[in-house]
Amino acid sequence: MPLDSVYRPNYATSTQSRRCFLRSSATLGSALALGGLPILLHGATRRLGSLPADPFNLGVASGDPTPDSVVLWTRLANEVIAEVGAANDAVEVGFEISHSPSFRNILRRGAIAAVPELGHSAHADVRGLAADTEYFYRWQVGNATSPVGRTKTAPAGSSDNQKFRFAFASCQQYEHGFYTAYQHMAKEQMDLIVHLGDYIYERSWGQNLVRHHEGPEIVSLADYRNRYITYKSDRDLQAAHASAPWIVTWDDHEVDNNYASEISEDDQTPEQLMLRRAAAYQAYYEFMPIRLPVGRQGPAMPIYRRLRFGRLMEMNILDTRQYRSDQACGDGRQPRCAEHRDSNRTLLGSAQKNWLYDSLASADSAWNVLAQQIMMASLRSVDNEGNELWPMDLWDGYPFERQELLDHLQTVATPNPVVLTGDIHSNWAADLKLDFDNEASPTIGAEFVCTSITSGGDGQDMTDYGQALLNKNPHVKFYNAQRGYVACTLTPAQWRSDYKVLPRVTEADAPISIRASYITEAGRPGVQEA
Ligand code: FE
Ligand code: CA
Repeated sequence: MPLDSVYRPNYATSTQSRRCFLRSSATLGSALALGGLPILLHGATRRLGSLPADPFNLGVASGDPTPDSVVLWTRLANEVIAEVGAANDAVEVGFEISHSPSFRNILRRGAIAAVPELGHSAHADVRGLAADTEYFYRWQVGNATSPVGRTKTAPAGSSDNQKFRFAFASCQQYEHGFYTAYQHMAKEQMDLIVHLGDYIYERSWGQNLVRHHEGPEIVSLADYRNRYITYKSDRDLQAAHASAPWIVTWDDHEVDNNYASEISEDDQTPEQLMLRRAAAYQAYYEFMPIRLPVGRQGPAMPIYRRLRFGRLMEMNILDTRQYRSDQACGDGRQPRCAEHRDSNRTLLGSAQKNWLYDSLASADSAWNVLAQQIMMASLRSVDNEGNELWPMDLWDGYPFERQELLDHLQTVATPNPVVLTGDIHSNWAADLKLDFDNEASPTIGAEFVCTSITSGGDGQDMTDYGQALLNKNPHVKFYNAQRGYVACTLTPAQWRSDYKVLPRVTEADAPISIRASYITEAGRPGVQEA
């Protein structure tokens, strides 16, 4: 499949930006796409010599694999760059790619400029790789060499690949526990790891904190950068990044809890929140192995995108925060109010929605995934007075757009839709019903929801909250509130989700086990216990 049909056209894949990122003869260039216009930074790139400390203490990563490319990432330690007097300079960073972790044969060498405007982060969008192939990479600056990362390109778009294994995860409040789940995930040498958001948290909350953030709630670019540095310093997280390519999307805590477009959680004005968003989104790019979306401008950063893994799976990666209408009826779990009945409210925004609907209408893979943040299956509850409560931050809070999407999936007959979800700090498996108010209505897809890596602390298998929601919502088949991740094994005939959980995250190095496995079979929508 040609690249242009894998990526949206406004996503950075042009030959021009590639040439600008890669070294050409004596000139190093770097393209910053701002407002769609590439700004070229030429020349004046410093090649460093001997360094006083390890500049790669945040690890390495790769991401957004296509059949012929992958993004390699690292970020130079700012204190090391400052110590050699290069804090304001573009710094040359080299990379090498090999088929083996020993680098006996080097397939490719290149260099990019890590610029101070992007916090000396390094992104190399390496092209011309072979499809469905494992590679190893490492970075060099001065006399320092980074740890080795493993990555893997996607199968060719037309390939009849028979098996694919990936993990998905979300929600890693640093103070709530250790990233033991990532230690286990790294050992699995997955084809792919998907992160559905809440990669950082903007503030402290909860009890029994096992380690600490610095300072109060973050708002500035410097704040967000420091917060990512804290999180990225974790060795288990680094091991997971080095073990496989990642696909990432953000949820709310990468900016502000439950923000909606330009509306903050607390009392920031829209102008304040947009400035904060610009800072948060820039830091996100700096620390993630993603291509810089063309069309980024200040607080606007379109990260929704599509990636294909042969004929087996296509993944639509969504952003349900940047474009949504404000949560109705005051947010939280509420009875319906007039605002909730307003059919003009949106979750995806019109541009993303149109792009998604087109994608779902032309989908031809065995499994068609919506990788997104918030629970899509209805999760209503009843209060002590018998009032039905709707979770206003979830898809339940946007019932018209959810119905439109479910109707669309049915109308265009998207093969085997699977929704992947994070955000809620608990494991769930659910049938997606065409009409959640009618138990007899057809099931049209499956939803798998991953628990948190750490958020909420140790957790437990069952809670009163979980049991009440299972009782009230018969389309929901499974709940668990321990910490961990979901490992998925796909074949053309079956999707299997293994819910892997830890007994505790408040002590390091706990063992992991499979709490439950749910499958969905091709052509038979809905989830079943394996
Ligand atoms: Fe979270
Ligand atoms: Ca969240």
